Amino acid sequence: MSDEVLIIGGGFAGLAAGVALAKAGRRVRLLEQKPYLGGRARSFYHAPTGSVVDNGQHIFMGCYHSTLEFLETIGTLDRVRFQPRLTVHFADRESGLTSLEFPSLSAPWHLIAGVLKSNSFTLSEKLQVLRLGRALCTADSGNPPRDFERLTVDSWMARLGQSERLRRNFWGLLCIAALNEDPSIAAASLFEPVLRLALFQSPADSRIGLASSGLSECYTEAAAAYIRSRQGTVEFERNVTGLILSAAPGNPRLDPSALDSAENGAIDVHQPLACRGVQLSDGTVIEAAAVLSAVPCFQLTRLLPESLLRSASFFAGLALMRPTPIISLNLWFNREVTDLEFVGLRGTTIQWLFNRGKILNSGEHYVSLVISGAHNYIQHDKEDLLRLALAELRELFPAAREAKLEHSLVIKERFATFSPSIEAAVARPSASTPIRGLYLAGDWTRTGLPATIESAVKSGYTAAAEILQAG
Ligand SMILES: Cc1cc2nc3c(=O)[nH]c(=O)nc-3n(C[C@H](O)[C@H](O)[C@H](O)COP(=O)(O)OP(=O)(O)OC[C@H]3O[C@@H](n4cnc5c(N)ncnc54)[C@H](O)[C@@H]3O)c2cc1C
Repeated sequence: MSDEVLIIGGGFAGLAAGVALAKAGRRVRLLEQKPYLGGRARSFYHAPTGSVVDNGQHIFMGCYHSTLEFLETIGTLDRVRFQPRLTVHFADRESGLTSLEFPSLSAPWHLIAGVLKSNSFTLSEKLQVLRLGRALCTADSGNPPRDFERLTVDSWMARLGQSERLRRNFWGLLCIAALNEDPSIAAASLFEPVLRLALFQSPADSRIGLASSGLSECYTEAAAAYIRSRQGTVEFERNVTGLILSAAPGNPRLDPSALDSAENGAIDVHQPLACRGVQLSDGTVIEAAAVLSAVPCFQLTRLLPESLLRSASFFAGLALMRPTPIISLNLWFNREVTDLEFVGLRGTTIQWLFNRGKILNSGEHYVSLVISGAHNYIQHDKEDLLRLALAELRELFPAAREAKLEHSLVIKERFATFSPSIEAAVARPSASTPIRGLYLAGDWTRTGLPATIESAVKSGYTAAAEILQAG
């Protein structure tokens, strides 16, 4: 058996792990089922408009330290353009356009001064935000209140004295953007690190970054080239259908077809197991000393024997993972709708507007509208969603009333992320598994962060470090 590391999946997690392993001198063989890399963070050419379209607008943040390191290693950090300091605009029917801007002061003064100066909050709301800031700054993050893991974002915010209006108009918008879930469902334990890292750490960490090219151009080819330049391979249309498991140590390797009959006793899941490699849909078997699964949780369940998922094992928590969808409405107009790069929308179904023409500097009058945590809208047909989005856009942006819609593309990502419910937050598995030679990465694994690019890259780095440590 070769000492190369097999990686299943070429999204941020798999590519970051591959780059870290290649950098450390290990030979990497990355298997991707699609004819392209990028997974849930990718871009493609849209022939009717000639535009580069992302599968959904992605925001980077200054506090994405692992991601920034990854992009720097592969030489593409300059493809993400960061604001000089955090600036967010909001639009709503009552107040029109308002903004929150952090001045260049050290933490926590950047937050205090920014909130006090902002016209997005009433005086009482400003005091509530500062109160929450003080509670976070003085709280001992290593020693949270005993019931913290049982709190939703909404109940935590209420406990910290945040009014219903402020929760709806500000914290809720941040929660759904960062956690892709409604604050009444999302776990406070995953929102707390987002606030701590993104708002209360340093002005540089609070900045928002946007890819100035298509998302795929930011990392996929450069990461693959990095792996290939260090003796590794990146292979497309390699659909892994199962992991080859056997009893560890000593027992003869199971025939791959035995995986299906595992529940009939071919594998005793209660004895120590080892992973010897993978099987592909065309029947090919690839052996390796270390296998890293960097596929989403919903796909991993298909690679593991049923009996392993059903037994009260390390993998049982996978059953608690539910998907949360994101809908992106890409609209091309004959004239500009706004000159802002992005705007948070309050009191509407659409939560964020991204001015793609401006972000890409393409001269197009192209905007992307986002509905995250879109459980209630994912079944709506695209025409309904377009009607709803256009009506809301025209209400909030007067220029949109004069603009003629020329093209549209609605993208529904049904499995955008796992839903960060209280149950799912505690069920996330670690990078090392009880199966010898099998490691896990992906935004959904136990990174302490919600399912984001940063979580994916961090998970890839953690898994790579565990593999290197195991030798
Ligand atoms: C619309 C949308 C908007 C988002 N916005 C943001 C944002 O603003 N900021 C942010 O930080 N995050 C955002 N995210 C989340 C971010 O995209 C993900 O957290 C990240 O891309 C996950 O990377 P990953 O490598 O863990 O998984 P994936 O990207 O899903 O990669 C897994 C890879 O494994 C491959 N694969 C699966 N099964 C197999 C198999 N059997 N054999 C071989 N290969 C297989 C897949 O094809 C895929 O390429 C957004 C996600 C979506 C969908």
